[in-house]
Amino acid sequence: MKNREVVHMSAAKNGVKKKGTLEKLLTSQRDELRARITGRLDEVYIDREPDDEAALASDSVTTDMTVATLERERRTLEEIESALERVKKGTYGLCAFCGESITTARLEALPWARLCIHCAGRASNSAAAD
Ligand SMILES: [Zn+2]
Repeated sequence: MKNREVVHMSAAKNGVKKKGTLEKLLTSQRDELRARITGRLDEVYIDREPDDEAALASDSVTTDMTVATLERERRTLEEIESALERVKKGTYGLCAFCGESITTARLEALPWARLCIHCAGRASNSAAAD
């Protein structure tokens, strides 16, 4: 959280994020997410009591939710990984669809955004989720 504030402030001052700062931000978000996913995997696959049927029944609801969250987080993790690739290739911040620059405001809200706001809107309208 503290890191994020620093990045936010320097981005506001410079207009554009420095490559190193951006890489650091994405890397720390990736590591955080990885740790969270690892923690959830433990919940799902280790913290179970297969002998206790009642516990298992209530547990499976929690497990379903955890698995759904896990899926979402895994997808986000992939997005972050590919954003890091784009930083390395120098294509970060450009829309993958139309090639236009993604606005700073959008990147502040979603640092791993692949599409500009227009293309993202179009993609979700045509049910191809971003
Ligand atoms: Zn676009």
